[in-house]
Amino acid sequence: MEKICVAVRMRPSINEESVNGFQWKVESNRISLHRSHGTPISGVSFAFDHVFDQECSNARVYELLTKDIISAAVEGFNGTAFAYGQTSSGKTYTMNGSEKDPGIIQRAVKDTFANIQKKSDREFLIRVSYMEIYNEDINDLFAVENQKLQIHESLERGIYVAGLREEIVNSADQVLNLIQLGEANRHFGDTNMNARSSRSHTIFRMVIESKGKDNNSSSCSSSDDAIRVSVLNLVDLAGSERVAKTGAGGVRLKEGKHINKSLLILGNVINKLSEGGKQRGHIPYRDSKLTRILQPALGGNAKTSIICTVAPEEIHIEETKGTLQFASRAK
Ligand code: ADP
Ligand code: MG
Repeated sequence: MEKICVAVRMRPSINEESVNGFQWKVESNRISLHRSHGTPISGVSFAFDHVFDQECSNARVYELLTKDIISAAVEGFNGTAFAYGQTSSGKTYTMNGSEKDPGIIQRAVKDTFANIQKKSDREFLIRVSYMEIYNEDINDLFAVENQKLQIHESLERGIYVAGLREEIVNSADQVLNLIQLGEANRHFGDTNMNARSSRSHTIFRMVIESKGKDNNSSSCSSSDDAIRVSVLNLVDLAGSERVAKTGAGGVRLKEGKHINKSLLILGNVINKLSEGGKQRGHIPYRDSKLTRILQPALGGNAKTSIICTVAPEEIHIEETKGTLQFASRAK
């Protein structure tokens, strides 16, 4: 298992603040908390593979965190990229971007097809799917009727979501249109789209299959002839904020519990994976649907990166610290 690449990204400030006791400072690959007059707060300083400041573009994030995962995926290696952070810290902006600055998903899709184009000696079959996990229910974003899908496991297919629609695709534009359709489907019948999206995990998945063009099945002379299959997951996680903050009972509380539990388990899984070696022990993939679905593309020789998004505002200091602690455990 390769080292997991962990980065932090701070979004630009949304609200002009009146209180100004503390501020976050980003210097090269370090983020630390300071008093406004400059004194650093001891113990609140973290270093990561990358720390991106408010000026950083999605183009640069893609370049440093995902580009290599995509070229490896085209070569047959599994990969996963996550966006983790509290609601409104910039996860969806990072994954889906804006018109001016497309996100990780758009860039990954375009880059995949560009890479494939260059590999004229192989034939490719690409399939995509798009799902959300909401309250531990798996829903298909490509087909509204596919709700509460189950995870199955077979020798032939490994771990899979039964009934999930997989579209065979031939171009980046086709995929991007499908994703737009998926987003529209999610709006369908939901009165509070933002609240829901902040409480659900979204997984965009691309399965890349290839074989040598002059492959004839009777001779397996070189490894280049072998069929390669890789799975790529791009994941926009549910908001990491603690339940207490929303101060709600009933449904909200239930949602909060599910989110917190699955993010906690994800943290445990990533922590175990990053420990590596023999000390690693049991990896608790089975403890949540999210980790179970991602399992095939997390262990082994998969490439993984995590971008932890944080807000610069003083009111978010506690949540930001929580996110930085999560990020630290993943290193
Ligand atoms: P999340 O998905 O974590 O809840 P969003 O991605 O929706 O957060 O971001 C919240 C708001 O901040 C959105 O209006 C988004 O456009 C804006 N935003 C987030 N990150 C950036 C960024 N790096 N640059 C510019 N705007 C951003
Ligand atoms: Mg979001």
